[in-house]
Amino acid sequence: MRSHHDAIIVGAGFGGMGAAIQLRRLGYDDLVILERESDLGGTWHVNRYPGLAVDIPSATYSYSFEPNPYWSRLYAPGAELKKYAEHVADTYDLRRHMRFGTVVEGARWDEEAQLWRVSLAGGETVSAVYLLTATGFLSQPKMPDIPGIETFAGKVIHTTAWDDSYDLAGKRAAIIGTGATAVQLIPELAKEVADLTVYQRTPIWVTAKPDFDVPKAVQTLFARLPLTQKVARFGGSSILEVLMVAGVLKYKEFRPFGKVAEAVAKAHLRRQVKDPETRAKLTPDYTFGCKRPTFSNTFYPTFNKPHVHLETTSIASIDETGIVTSDGNRTDLDVLVLATGFNLWDVNFPAIEIIGRDGKNLGKWWRDTRFQAYEGITMPGFPNLFSLNSPYSYSGLSYFTTIESQMKHMDRLVTEMQKKGATVFEVTQEANDRFLDRMTRNLEDSVFRLGSCASANSYYFNQHGEATLLRPTSTLGAFREAGRFPLTDYTYA
Ligand code: NAP
Repeated sequence: MRSHHDAIIVGAGFGGMGAAIQLRRLGYDDLVILERESDLGGTWHVNRYPGLAVDIPSATYSYSFEPNPYWSRLYAPGAELKKYAEHVADTYDLRRHMRFGTVVEGARWDEEAQLWRVSLAGGETVSAVYLLTATGFLSQPKMPDIPGIETFAGKVIHTTAWDDSYDLAGKRAAIIGTGATAVQLIPELAKEVADLTVYQRTPIWVTAKPDFDVPKAVQTLFARLPLTQKVARFGGSSILEVLMVAGVLKYKEFRPFGKVAEAVAKAHLRRQVKDPETRAKLTPDYTFGCKRPTFSNTFYPTFNKPHVHLETTSIASIDETGIVTSDGNRTDLDVLVLATGFNLWDVNFPAIEIIGRDGKNLGKWWRDTRFQAYEGITMPGFPNLFSLNSPYSYSGLSYFTTIESQMKHMDRLVTEMQKKGATVFEVTQEANDRFLDRMTRNLEDSVFRLGSCASANSYYFNQHGEATLLRPTSTLGAFREAGRFPLTDYTYA
C-alpha cells in the first residue's frame, strides 16, 4: 500500500463517489477512498431497518449522468439504493480505490511539503495533494442520554445498526423518536411485535406519499428512450424546487404556501386517525418547514391499532426491565428501538479533526466564530481541502443536486489550477465573508427566521441558533454558481 496520493477522499457514499468520478474526469487516477464501514454506499449501506426507502422520487434521487431506468417504485426501497451505489462503483471503476474498515482520525496541512497528512486509527499516516471529506451529515448516530439506559437488560437497537437476526415476533417493544426514520419504521414494527409504545417528544409534519410500483413497460421505456426518464426527473426536481423555495427559503413572500402545506398535512391526519386525542398529540405546534417534514401513507393509521400506544409524557428513566415516564408510569419491555437520529453540530462539523494553515482547527474555528464555508465547500486557511459536508452546502431535498453542484465547483477550480500550473488553492477571506454575508441575508426571508420554529427541535439549527445546514438559494442557483463563481475568489500557488 503506497502512502502518498493525488487525493484522499474520506467516505465511500454517494458524495465520495461523486468526488472520485470528478477527479478521474480531471485526470487524477491516484486516489484513495477511505471508508470506516465494511462496504460502500454510506447511508444506504449503514441503514437497513424495515421500511427503509427514499422519500424523494428515485429518478431525481440519483446521479443525472448515471440514470437507473429500473427503479421498482417511484420511491425506491433502501436496498435498491445500495445496489445502485454498487453499480456506480463498478461502472466508474471506483472499487480499486477504496479501503474499507479504515477509520480516519485527523488530517493536518503540512505547510513545508504542501500536502495533507491524514492519520488513521492504528497509527498509519497517508498523504495527498488534495483532501476531500465526504463524511455525510447524518452519519454520527445519536444515543439518548436517558438516565439508566445502560442498565436495560433487554435488546437495544439503534436504527443505524439494525439486527436482522433478532426476532421481533410477539415482543413487547418501544421506539423512541418520531423523525423521518421512525415514520418509516413504526408501521413495519407494528406488524411484528405484540405491543408497541411510541415515545414522541416532538411531532412531525407528515403528508401523503404518492407512491406506486413503476410498471415494467415504463422501466423498458426509460431504458430504451432515456429522454423520457430525463423528463420524469425534471418533473420531480421541479416540484421539489418549488417546495423548497416557496415553503422554506422564500417564506416571507409565500407565507400562504406554508399554511396550505399545514392544512394538507392536517387533513391527511384527520383522514387517517380516528381518535381526536391521538390526533391532537400527533399535530405539530411549529411552522411547516422548520424541521424536515416527511411523507407516509402508513404511519398515522398505525396508531388506530389496539396494540400501538402513543406516549407523549417525557421519559424519566430506563431501568433493567423498561421505561418509566415522568408521571411515574412504567412500561415493561423486551426490546427498545432508538430512532433518535444523528448528532450533527457537536461531533459532525467536521467528522474528523482537521488542522489547516498555522494550526487553524476547523471545528474550533466554526464553533468560536460562525459555521461557514465558501459556496459550502472551501474555507480560508484550509488549502486544497474540499469539505463536501459543510455549512450551507446542502442545497435542496435531493442530496444529488448538492453532489453534482460540488462536482462542478471542483471542475471549474481544478481546471483553472491546471491551466495556471498551480498545485495549491485557497479561498480568500474576502470571498468567504462575502458568501457568508449573502447566506445570512438570504436566511432573513426563510421560515427559519420568520416561522415559529422554537419548539421544532430541528437539526437544521446549530448550537448558536443559526440555521446553517441548508444553503438558502435555489438548487438551480447553486448549480449555476458552481460553474460561474469568480476564479479570483481563490489564490493559486
Ligand atoms: P431525527 O429527525 O433527528 O429524529 C430523531 C427523533 O428522536 C426525534 O423525534 C427526536 O425528538 C427523538 N429523540 C432524540 N433524542 C431523544 C431523547 N433523548 N428523548 C426522546 N426523544 C428523542 O432523526 P431521523 O428520524 O433518523 O431522521 C434524520 C434524517 O434522516 C431525516 O430528517 C431525513 O433527512 C433523513 N431520513 C431520510 C429518509 C428518507 O426517506 N429519505 C428516511 C429516514 C431518514 P426531538 O424532535 O424532540 O428532538
